[in-house]
Amino acid sequence: MSKKILILGGGYGGLLAALTARQHLSASEAQITLVNRFPTHQIITELHRLAGGTIGEKAVSLPLEKLLKGKSINLVIDTVTEIKPDDKKVLGASGSAYTYDALVVALGSETAFFGIPGLQEHSFVLKSVNDANRIRAHVEAELDAYKKTGDKAHATFVVGGGGLTGVELVGEFADKMPELCRAKGIDFNDISLYVVEAAPSILPVFPPELVQRAVESLSKRGVEFITGVAITERTPTTVSLKDGRTIETHTLVWTGGVQGHPAVANSGLEVNRGRATVTETLQSTSHPDVFLAGDCAVVFPAGSERPYPPTAQLAWQMGELVGYNLSAYFKGGKMEAFEPVFSGTLGSLGRKDAIGTIGANQIRLKGLPATLMKEASNIRYLSHINGLFTLAY
Ligand code: NAD
Repeated sequence: MSKKILILGGGYGGLLAALTARQHLSASEAQITLVNRFPTHQIITELHRLAGGTIGEKAVSLPLEKLLKGKSINLVIDTVTEIKPDDKKVLGASGSAYTYDALVVALGSETAFFGIPGLQEHSFVLKSVNDANRIRAHVEAELDAYKKTGDKAHATFVVGGGGLTGVELVGEFADKMPELCRAKGIDFNDISLYVVEAAPSILPVFPPELVQRAVESLSKRGVEFITGVAITERTPTTVSLKDGRTIETHTLVWTGGVQGHPAVANSGLEVNRGRATVTETLQSTSHPDVFLAGDCAVVFPAGSERPYPPTAQLAWQMGELVGYNLSAYFKGGKMEAFEPVFSGTLGSLGRKDAIGTIGANQIRLKGLPATLMKEASNIRYLSHINGLFTLAY
């Protein structure tokens, strides 16, 4: 009898799980339903470029209907509000209830605000196409307001958090701002672009030599780094820092970290700090009929207490393994263990500069080679999902 596979989330983990499961299970063996809150698969690794205005929405927002066409995968647009693994049921904001024989939870992560007063209410985040569009429109509006009023708070832009999200975004701002200023008749020297980072340095994921390259490259283009100082409060017009300083601004983009999805944290699945714990085959440690892919799960390398980072490349690999393991789960074959391959980490510093470490030997790249690698990794992903699209049933 045909089994019911329910997949929550149409990001890297969910989409790859759906496409891979369909490669291994025919439509008569399994009905696959994918529930996503947007009708699009969003390339969130490129959102900074949409927010900065370098690319258009179509480049990062791919209609799921098109990606799933001809695959016998039901697409449902709904926001998951509750997962009830003991009842084998999932509830959506639309009022619908979904049932399953096997569930894949791939809902991603959310921005963490760490309880900092005013932050959630008065900052922008960069987790979706809508978020990126909001930032882009707001920056333009602020420049217009500055032109009109001369109030410096409208010409001051703060990125809170110097991880990869924050640095990639400020790189786009640094490239786009001079162009926008010219078009609006504003002196670019009037603009202040800050990155505030609580840790002693930005980008701890990279070796110091590459961090220095990033700081130099961005400083040359007008970015000011405030490191070793945490943001402690936000009001609509101010950002307070731990050392007592206050920055007057209408724009804080908060990229200070991510946390597990609340629907997972509150589901009754076993979790570790809000992210579901998994076996080596990516099944929930408490519910073997639930598989997990992407940021909403926490995976520890063997013998390590430090989990793998929540990245797109891991979500993609987890999704594929889950897709494969689902077929073994239903057909009685042997499930495989998750053994991720790290191709490296690449961080863009705007349109023409980037840094990266590649492969197991952590080969260091900067400048054009890193920029090209970064572009290539995006193209590789897009052709991969399109390839699966063609290959599948
Ligand atoms: P992150 O957790 O990596 O970085 C957040 C930064 O904010 C940290 O450096 C932290 O010290 C800082 N911070 C926290 N609280 C602060 C405060 N009160 N004031 C000032 N600074 C504060 O988050 P991210 O950059 O969104 O990245 C999330 C994950 O996604 C990471 O694993 C990252 O590697 C990955 N990612 C990868 C890429 C890429 O590969 N190009 C791009 C974006 C994100």
